Amino acid sequence: MSLLIFADNHNGHFPKHARELISYGRRMAEDLNTQTIVLVTGALSDEELLLPGKYGAHRVLVADDPRFEVLDHKLYTALIEQVVSEKGVTHLLFSYSPAGKALAPLAAARLQAGYVSAVTGLPENYDPFTVRKMIFSGKVFASVEISTEKKVITLAPNAWKEEILGEAVEPEKVSFAGLPQPVTDRLSLERHEGRIMLTDADIVISGGRGMQNAENFRLLEELAGLLGGAVACTRPVSDEGWRPPEEHAGQTGKIIAPDLYFAFGISGAIQHLAGVSGSKVIAAVNKDPDAPIFEAADYGIVGDALEVLPRLIEEVKKRKAARNR
Ligand SMILES: Cc1cc2nc3c(=O)[nH]c(=O)nc-3n(C[C@H](O)[C@H](O)[C@H](O)COP(=O)(O)OP(=O)(O)OC[C@H]3O[C@@H](n4cnc5c(N)ncnc54)[C@H](O)[C@@H]3O)c2cc1C
Repeated sequence: MSLLIFADNHNGHFPKHARELISYGRRMAEDLNTQTIVLVTGALSDEELLLPGKYGAHRVLVADDPRFEVLDHKLYTALIEQVVSEKGVTHLLFSYSPAGKALAPLAAARLQAGYVSAVTGLPENYDPFTVRKMIFSGKVFASVEISTEKKVITLAPNAWKEEILGEAVEPEKVSFAGLPQPVTDRLSLERHEGRIMLTDADIVISGGRGMQNAENFRLLEELAGLLGGAVACTRPVSDEGWRPPEEHAGQTGKIIAPDLYFAFGISGAIQHLAGVSGSKVIAAVNKDPDAPIFEAADYGIVGDALEVLPRLIEEVKKRKAARNR
């Protein structure tokens, strides 16, 4: 028995969800009395490769080759299958990230393994192996049992806190000579340098249709910039093209759980709350006192977002300036 974690990286850095997954995997490995093996792909700096050990990996396997730059499903699943077979892996863990969502079901199919997506915590039971996940837009928890010998799961973002659980370990190179050539290639790559990823952000400033137009989102960007947060939006806002689709949070968008979720001009539909209700603190500004968002919010302001935002920005600027004095 052993436990393998596929830790995806963005531009050579492990995002928050990958660090959370490693810490989560370590706790599961302790329960199973086995080792935590972390598989990483691509070129990472020596410094970055020390992180998996600190977050709980006992072993770090590195497949470093330019072919891994593109998430080629055929190549990646063959690599995972090879490592699973060589290391006798029984438990295979991915983040519920774009890479994890793409690879986990493929790996499960190739390994004839049972698969559960977006689990929300450690297994309720190891024999039979039973995990929990949210269904029906977060209204209900389902307990799901995997009865196959090999088990594949993805971990919902922000479902587990990253922890320093170990020491840096020396990475080991994986031999991938026999792997297939990729069948896809990347034609272009657009990077959003310097932006905090929505799923990694501790503070999220979000806007709905009540922001009225795309232009007004500049206020949200300014506030997010001042607070070191990221901008999110509701689905109609991204459908309108006011914001890019990757910012849309909710049942059909990103699932996030920041320390602070600040909602401006958002009604609080159940499908939106499904993606943000795990936030530690929710604050909302809405001009309708009966808006459902106030039922989910810890703090609320009944008012016009376009009047509240400039005042809030001014206040944050003042306080930052006072702190820097
Ligand atoms: C299958 C399905 C999946 C869906 N998935 C998602 C999803 O993942 N994410 C998602 O967000 N939605 C999703 N939706 C859509 C969802 O049902 C709601 O329609 C949507 O969340 C509403 O977006 P909104 O709050 O921006 O707009 P609205 O519902 O139009 O609300 C706008 C709010 O702004 C307030 N307002 C207006 N002007 C101001 C102002 N000047 N200042 C302050 N407040 C103001 C209004 O009082 C109102 O409460 C889904 C729907 C379906 C059917």
